[in-house]
Amino acid sequence: MNIKEYFVSIFKGFHSLIKGMEVTGKELVTPKVTEQYPENRATLDIPERFRATLEFIYDENGGHKCIACGSCERNCPNQTISISKRMVDLPDGKKKMKLDKYMYDLGSCTFCGLCVQVCPTNAIRFSNDFEQAVFTREKLLKQLNYLPEKDEPAPAPAPAAKPVAKPAAPAADETQVEEPKEKKE
Ligand code: SF4
Ligand code: SF4
Repeated sequence: MNIKEYFVSIFKGFHSLIKGMEVTGKELVTPKVTEQYPENRATLDIPERFRATLEFIYDENGGHKCIACGSCERNCPNQTISISKRMVDLPDGKKKMKLDKYMYDLGSCTFCGLCVQVCPTNAIRFSNDFEQAVFTREKLLKQLNYLPEKDEPAPAPAPAAKPVAKPAAPAADETQVEEPKEKKE
């Protein structure tokens, strides 16, 4: 390589570098044309029926409909659900099954939906919240009944017995025995 070819190759190198930087610079200021996550999180359209994770359905008072029957646990094909329950005595003397812990392992769920289908009280559903990424597998194990169960309401007090009405006392003049009138001679 002579001295002229040497300088020509340096010039070509710079020329190619500037060309590349020109393309990069243009893309920096060009508006994005593809979906960009997470910038578009607020407007992201996730289908309603997308199964992301199982969750309890809570009402406005913080109650849920799970009766701890264990149907979902028995029907789950891969032991993703594990329920612990206990029998409690109710104030009226009856017994009732209460839920202690409802554990769901998102890491082993196949999202088949069997658990939701067999629930007799519609206590569970699938949320479409797709952002479920965590750093450790342990965090995929979730307790779904995160609100403590409420105490059973005390039985309503028996209605007070009505006081038995006493018969009215006879009037004073009624009690007076009329003296037999003396016979006039
Ligand atoms: S969706 Fe299927 S695998 Fe997942 S918890 Fe329910 S029954 Fe089990
Ligand atoms: S979620 Fe439904 S099926 Fe599962 S234990 Fe509760 S009531 Fe039974």
